[in-house]
Amino acid sequence: MDLDLVFLGTSGSVPTAKRGLAGTLLRRGGERILVDCGEGTQRQLLRSSVGLVELPEIFLTHYHADHYLGLPGMLKTFALRGREAPLTVYGPPGLKDLFGILRRVFGRLSYELTLVELGPGDAVGRDDYRIEAFAVEHGVSANGYALVEEPRPGRFDLEAAKGLGVPEGPLFGRLQAGESVQLPDGSTVSPEQVLGPARSGRKIVLAGDTRAAGSVLEAARDAEVLVHEATFSVEERERADETLHATATSAAELAAAAGVRLLALTHLSNRYFGPEIVREARAVFPETVVPKDFDIIDVRFPQRGGPRLVKGGALGRHEEGEPHDKDGSGDPGERPLGGGGDSDDPALRGDPVGARVGRRDASDGAR
Ligand SMILES: [Zn+2]
Ligand SMILES: [Zn+2]
Repeated sequence: MDLDLVFLGTSGSVPTAKRGLAGTLLRRGGERILVDCGEGTQRQLLRSSVGLVELPEIFLTHYHADHYLGLPGMLKTFALRGREAPLTVYGPPGLKDLFGILRRVFGRLSYELTLVELGPGDAVGRDDYRIEAFAVEHGVSANGYALVEEPRPGRFDLEAAKGLGVPEGPLFGRLQAGESVQLPDGSTVSPEQVLGPARSGRKIVLAGDTRAAGSVLEAARDAEVLVHEATFSVEERERADETLHATATSAAELAAAAGVRLLALTHLSNRYFGPEIVREARAVFPETVVPKDFDIIDVRFPQRGGPRLVKGGALGRHEEGEPHDKDGSGDPGERPLGGGGDSDDPALRGDPVGARVGRRDASDGAR
């Protein structure tokens, strides 16, 4: 089952020429779940290989403007296209109040819109995974979200099955599905006899805006990928504390303590380009990347190599060059990424993000 993250906006508080505002698309099989919808997100989707698909579900982490202002425009676009498929927006308490105001902006919709407020511990369940809301520390009503896959059945031991006299065919499938089966000779074979131990599913954690918090650490334990904000570098530690944001160092320390496989830092203040943030974090936690807009993290199963960053993987023009194969293993010979990242690659540093213009403080800590 393919599972990946598409980074649509990686800037914090204000956009830059190269980085849009918060928006991350989770793709699992054919499902598409958007987490946050900063201003410009619908255009980022249009520019990407994903396109502006009829997203069935959008999760908001909190109601600072850089995380939801793209939503009214996107909802309106869907209505202008005559969308009929229903849409559900999830968010922390305050969602319904917010939409009391936003409805005046987007007006009538052609489809059903459902609003669901989630608090820490609430989960949205699916057949084989769930999305859990967890507490963060950002000084406002805010959730982080974890996509948690259910454990998968253990590996099927073909030799053992044959040894027990199970004939090849439908009985194999039933055993794999966890059923005991009766053989033609009347004996019974139970799944434990032919299946290895259950294999844990994957976990992706998106913390949203938060300082490095114990609740995030707990939620992120053993995750394949933790997407954490790093609004500031450690030199701005005090400012981060004041505004309940994280530094690259504090996020990396949390990732190390939680034992995640890959840390992806996002929500950068416009005073940073990326390289300084990734360097700082890697000194603490080497498996750190700082994705740019349109990068993808392909979350492969551990036995297939684990998560890796695919630079520009969602750029429209790369669409054909970056196939996503069925088992999520990636094709051989692809750019090696894993814990690698882009940002301190000197070759990529020629064109600094359109930041460092205007007031240094823009409004980065404020949201
Ligand atoms: Zn923010
Ligand atoms: Zn915020």
